[in-house]
Amino acid sequence: LERTRTMEADMRRSEEEAGDLRRHLEQARREATIDHLTGLPNRRAFEGVFRHERLEAQREMEPLCLALCDIDFFKKVNDLHGHDAGDRVIRAVGQALARISDRCHVARHGGEEFVLLFRGLNLPQAADALDAARERFAARHFVDKVTGKAIGGVTFSAGVVDAFTALDLGATLRAADSALYRAKESGRNRVECG
Ligand code: GH3
Ligand code: MG
Ligand code: MG
Repeated sequence: LERTRTMEADMRRSEEEAGDLRRHLEQARREATIDHLTGLPNRRAFEGVFRHERLEAQREMEPLCLALCDIDFFKKVNDLHGHDAGDRVIRAVGQALARISDRCHVARHGGEEFVLLFRGLNLPQAADALDAARERFAARHFVDKVTGKAIGGVTFSAGVVDAFTALDLGATLRAADSALYRAKESGRNRVECG
């Protein structure tokens, strides 16, 4: 009787431990798709979103566009105001982009770069939506909330492409990156179409 009781207690403990592990694993999986600084999906999560949205858009015969967005002269923000102020600027850009529309997915692509997916908008429409967000953001003035020092205006540049022109995500990103490069070359604080 005593042995049965011990075995039952052991089994209950094992079940509890298995439950804890399962919960930890679920949390780790969720966290692996979220960028900690901005709370936005990370690049890995975006790959899944892209695959899903591209299939859905194709099925629904809706346009789909992808944009790469990069903060202008961001190194200067870090150099002049420190890494923490830089982090807050990255967060502000992420929030501004996330507000564009419910049908626009935004993810942190890495560093001071973001990747966006516009569902239901063709290339000129997506470029216009992003350009409006760019203009609103450029009109803001930032102040370092720790030091009180003015950071001033922060701008970003972007390259937008039709997500159906290239074959896969890699090629689509390369096309968006060359449009972004053109935006940088022609003076920054602008949106270029690929
Ligand atoms: P450009 O207009 O050509 O894009 O110039 P830039 O200065 O924005 O570009 P550059 O690639 O020279 O610098 C990007 C900087 O972003 C360098 C890197 O230290 C910084 N950075 C990358 N990730 C983070 C981050 O998570 N936090 C902060 N604070 N800085 C970051
Ligand atoms: Mg960059
Ligand atoms: Mg930059």
